[in-house]
Amino acid sequence: MHQRSELANGNSVLIRGAVAIMTGLPGERARAAGADIRVQDSRIREIGHLTPNDGERVIDARDCVIYPGWVNTHHHLMQGLLKGVPEGLNAGLLRWLQAVPFRYRMRFTSELLETAALLSLSELVLGGCTTVADFHNLYFPGMTYDGAATLFAAAERLGVRPATATRRPASRSVVEPRRRMRCGLKRCATPSPT
Ligand SMILES: [Zn+2]
Repeated sequence: MHQRSELANGNSVLIRGAVAIMTGLPGERARAAGADIRVQDSRIREIGHLTPNDGERVIDARDCVIYPGWVNTHHHLMQGLLKGVPEGLNAGLLRWLQAVPFRYRMRFTSELLETAALLSLSELVLGGCTTVADFHNLYFPGMTYDGAATLFAAAERLGVRPATATRRPASRSVVEPRRRMRCGLKRCATPSPT
């Protein structure tokens, strides 16, 4: 840990007074003790109840929750393997839905879904995203696996905090699934702190 005098320069930022600091870690480690973070040279140097140093930039984080990364609130991890399908290029949304995800979803095995999830999650992590809500809608008659479980396992491998915002099993109709969309947060890998 750096001494106070070493931190007093223009590269030091104190994020102060947050309601909570979420770590992305499971269980009791989900929330860090303290409400302030000191960052120097793009690295976290201190977490706790801190006071500003001379010349230090202070960010007021009152009424804010600090997350370790970007939060993606709407994703479809499955579609990581469905990019560049010729029939979907330059198509509008409804035509694209029919030509790409609705056309291929029944071919997704658990292994294929895992590959798609790892690809999509890797892209997100490279962009700084550490939490993702996936609008998981891969359901079809005769499925032999739990797609949500596959997504959660992939997220755990990469250290990403996942949630699924799911809906009822989608039909082949384009319009009907959109009407029946449910956005409720169904599952979360990390229990909410109390
Ligand atoms: Zn969507």
